[in-house]
Amino acid sequence: MKVFDMIQTTPEQKEILDLTKQICEKELLPRVPELDKEGTFPEDIAQKFVDAGLYAMEVPEQYGGMGIDNETLFLVAETLGYYDAGFGFTFHAGSMGAECVFVGGTEEQKQHAAEELLAGKKFAFCLTEPAVGSDAASIQTTAKKDGDEYVIRGNKCFISGAEIADYFVVATTIDKELKYKGITLFLVEKERGVQIAKHEDKMGIRLSPTNEVIFDDIRVPASNMIGAEGKGWGIVMRNMEVVRPHSMNFATGIAMRAVDEAVSYAKVRQQFGKPIISLQGLNFLLADMVEKTLVSHSALMNVAHLLDKGMPLNGMGSAVKIYASQTASYVASKSIEVLGGYGYMREYPVEKLLRDAKIFEIFEGTNQIQQVVLGSLLAKD
Ligand SMILES: Cc1cc2nc3c(=O)[nH]c(=O)nc-3n(C[C@H](O)[C@H](O)[C@H](O)COP(=O)(O)OP(=O)(O)OC[C@H]3O[C@@H](n4cnc5c(N)ncnc54)[C@H](O)[C@@H]3O)c2cc1C
Repeated sequence: MKVFDMIQTTPEQKEILDLTKQICEKELLPRVPELDKEGTFPEDIAQKFVDAGLYAMEVPEQYGGMGIDNETLFLVAETLGYYDAGFGFTFHAGSMGAECVFVGGTEEQKQHAAEELLAGKKFAFCLTEPAVGSDAASIQTTAKKDGDEYVIRGNKCFISGAEIADYFVVATTIDKELKYKGITLFLVEKERGVQIAKHEDKMGIRLSPTNEVIFDDIRVPASNMIGAEGKGWGIVMRNMEVVRPHSMNFATGIAMRAVDEAVSYAKVRQQFGKPIISLQGLNFLLADMVEKTLVSHSALMNVAHLLDKGMPLNGMGSAVKIYASQTASYVASKSIEVLGGYGYMREYPVEKLLRDAKIFEIFEGTNQIQQVVLGSLLAKD
C-alpha cells in the first residue's frame, strides 16, 4: 500500500490531486535528477501547472479567484512535495508571497494582486537580511519618505523564488530605533530596478532558486505601502501564521515519498532468503516511519481546518512546524537506512529526500524560534 492510499479526500479534492499527480509524473519526475544536479527551477513545467489552473487557487472568489480552502491547498502542496519539495515550495511561494497584501492591503491592492496572480505572476517575500534572521524586528533595510514617494535601500538574502518573481513584498524600517514598531511593508515591482544577486548553491531543495536581492535606492509611490507606517510587523506575523503551515506540507510530502521508496525497496530486496520487509525489525521501522508521517499529515489537516474556520492557531502552527519538519528529516534518514548502502548512493532517490528535508527545520522561523514561541505562550498567565 502507498501512503497516498491511506489518506482520505473528497471527490472534488481527488480530482485536483489526480491532475497534480498526472503533471508531476509526466513532466516533473523524469527531469528531477538533472534539475537537482543543476540547481534549476523549471519554468516550463511551472507554466504547465499554471495552464492546468493549479496556480494561485487560494485567490478569494470576491477578487475573481477560486477561493479554494486551505485543506485542499495543503493536500496539493503535500502532493507536490512528494515529487519535488523544492519545485513545489517555489511554485506555491510564488502566490503565497502575496499573502501580506491579502492580510493588510487596501481593496485596490488586493484586487491588483489578485489580477496579477491569476495572470500567473509571481511574488517573493523579502524579510531576511545578511545580518538579521531570527531577530527579524532588527532589519536594516530603510524606507525614507521623499514627497509622495519612499526610497528603499538595503540588501535581503536567502529570498526564495526571487529569480522568477515579478513582485517583491519587502519589509523595511522607517526608523531602526523603533524595532518592530518601525517595520513597514512595500510592494515593489521588479522593473523599478530590483537587482537579483548571488544565486545560492544549496544542499537541498535545489529546484528552488534562492538569491540575494538588492534594493539600491528604489523609489516607489506611497500607494505601494502595504498597511501603514510601522504596521508591517503585525501583517508579517499574521502572514506567517498562514504561510508557515502551508510550507510544512512539502515536508510531509517528502516523508510520504521516503516511506513509499523504502517499502518498494524492502519488498524486492532479499536477505537471509526472504524479502527484508518480512524481517520484523525492519517491518516495525517502516511502521514507525509511516506512523510519524500520518501524524504530520493529520496535524497539518487540523491546522488547515482551523485556518478555514478563521480560528486562532494558539501555538498549533509552531508545534506542527516543529513536528512535521523533524519527521521529514527522521523519515528520510530512516529511508536511507532501509535501502542500506544503496540508500547512500545518488543513483537512488532517497539521499535527496534527506537533503531536501533539512531546510524545513530552518526556514519559516527556525524550530528553536518555534520553541521560543511555544515556551512564551506557556509562560503567559
Ligand atoms: C533555502 C532558504 C530559503 C529561504 N527563503 C526565505 C524567503 O523567501 N524570504 C525570507 O525573508 N527569508 C528566507 N529565508 C531565511 C530564513 O527564514 C532564515 O534563514 C531563518 O529565519 C533563520 O535565520 P538565520 O539564517 O539568519 O539564522 P539565525 O537567526 O542567525 O540563527 C542561527 C541559530 O541561532 C538560533 N537562534 C536564534 N535566535 C534564537 C533564540 N532567541 N533562541 C534560541 N535559538 C535562537 C537559530 O534557531 C539558529 O539555530 C530562507 C532561508 C533559506 C536557507
